[in-house]
Parts: sequence; structure tokens; C-alpha cells
Amino acid sequence: MSATTDHDERRCARHPEREGRYYCSKYGRYLCDECATCADPKLYCKFRTQCIIWELERYGGSGSVAR
Ligand SMILES: [Zn+2]
Repeated sequence: MSATTDHDERRCARHPEREGRYYCSKYGRYLCDECATCADPKLYCKFRTQCIIWELERYGGSGSVAR
């Protein structure tokens, strides 16, 4: 256990205690592994071509994709 309490600004928008590993350009916020899904898949995102979250959804088809 590390005793360091570094306040990283890259925190998940939903889980402040988690590291925001993925940056959502559309909403300008960071998301953790669990939240790394597009919040509004139906809403066109001009950042989609460079969005790591969108890429994860496209290629992360490991059975958890709804449709
Ligand atoms: Zn989260």
C-alpha cells in the first residue's frame, strides 16, 4: 500500500477515487476502465476518429456489446 496521496486531476468523472485512464473529448472528462464507454453512442462525436473510448467500443467486442 502506498501512502502517497497524489491528487491527480485525471480522475474518473463517475468515480473520483479512480484513475481516469481514458479521456472523452466530447465531454471533456476522464473515465476509468469501467466507465470507458461512450455516454452517447447515438450522438455524433466529431472527436470520434481520435476517441480512445470509441475505439475501445469498436474493437472491444468481447461479448459485452449490447448490439
Ligand atoms: Zn468510473
